[in-house]
Amino acid sequence: MYDLLVIGGGIQGLSAAWHAAQSGADVLVVEKGTAAGGATKAAAGMLGAQTERHAGEALQRAAVSARDYWKTWAAEIERTSGKSTGLRLHGAYRTASSPECIHELRSAAVEQKALGLEVQSRFPDGADVKESVFFPQEAQVDAIQAAAAIAQGIKNAGGEIREKTTVRAAVLSGDVWQVETESGIYQSRYVLQAPGISGAVKGTSLSGAVLEPVKGECLAVRPAVQPFKETIVDEHIYLVPKADGRIIIGATETPGDETLDVHAGAAAQLLSRAVALYPALADAALIQHWAGVRPRRRGGPPLVAETKPGLFTTIGHYRNGILYAGWTGRLLTRWMDTGSRPEELAPFSPEEVTK
Ligand SMILES: Cc1cc2nc3c(=O)[nH]c(=O)nc-3n(C[C@H](O)[C@H](O)[C@H](O)COP(=O)(O)OP(=O)(O)OC[C@H]3O[C@@H](n4cnc5c(N)ncnc54)[C@H](O)[C@@H]3O)c2cc1C
Repeated sequence: MYDLLVIGGGIQGLSAAWHAAQSGADVLVVEKGTAAGGATKAAAGMLGAQTERHAGEALQRAAVSARDYWKTWAAEIERTSGKSTGLRLHGAYRTASSPECIHELRSAAVEQKALGLEVQSRFPDGADVKESVFFPQEAQVDAIQAAAAIAQGIKNAGGEIREKTTVRAAVLSGDVWQVETESGIYQSRYVLQAPGISGAVKGTSLSGAVLEPVKGECLAVRPAVQPFKETIVDEHIYLVPKADGRIIIGATETPGDETLDVHAGAAAQLLSRAVALYPALADAALIQHWAGVRPRRRGGPPLVAETKPGLFTTIGHYRNGILYAGWTGRLLTRWMDTGSRPEELAPFSPEEVTK
């Protein structure tokens, strides 16, 4: 019997499994595809606590805590796995040129300063923008590398990851969860469902939360010399410079679409916006394109909850599943250990709606 069985080997499931495994729990992650796949492998890796919009003070503070947790957690992941997370600590710009977006950017800067967050008035060299603020504490990871390192850390701590295995159902029998997969039934004291856009399996619950897919397409270019190290988040696109010299250009937003092909029109629009924002990128080599599906919770923030006795859920992280991964995983394992919900997770409960 396991202490914790995790349904879904994306970054949310892996992060909770990593924390449980490091504290000595017997952990099994069951993944229908390959671990560190799903939306996780499509992510640009921004830890966007200040560049992304987080509705209300509680979510804004949670996002900042989640970003700052990565700064120490990344070293722990690297120590337990021997692999890099690609953490970069160069900060991020948010830029705007249209009157509405300039207004929105200035209001966001004022609100963040009022919360005591660091915000600077600074423009990125070489970018064609009318207004800019710089968030020196913003950071990023390489989502694929980080998730692979977390998975390795689970295995090195004695945890198991079973790939190409779909969970079909989970049933509580006494105090023990019986989890039915296509390769057999596993027993576990606790179950964490982290299935991304696939949603709940038979016998589990999302406490009424409804998920909607939001497709995102991305490109990557490789300039001869990377001209900036900071992330730049503009009105319609972002540029995320990676440690390996690539710059990720993202991302489209298509609600209701779960397909994974990259449309020529979307790629053309991303490229033309990237070159308009940062003209020197016109000379960069175009090297990659991909798409993923963000799991968004309709009308609410992500759901992190005990949705049945001993059945925990982390789902609906939309654009911020990488940002929230470690912080949420640590708090979920504390919840399982102590039997009471950490107060920090209150903004992610089923009754919360987006203000
Ligand atoms: C283009 C794009 C860019 C993004 N950029 C960022 C970014 O810069 N920063 C950020 O924080 N976030 C970003 N995101 C969002 C982020 O990728 C997601 O929020 C995050 O990956 C969600 O993680 P997850 O573990 O919940 O889901 P997933 O990564 O989708 O993992 C869920 C896993 O569960 C498995 N599964 C489902 N059902 C079952 C079952 N029954 N049995 C077994 N396995 C099952 C699936 O196969 C999948 O592997 C981006 C997303 C996209 C698409």
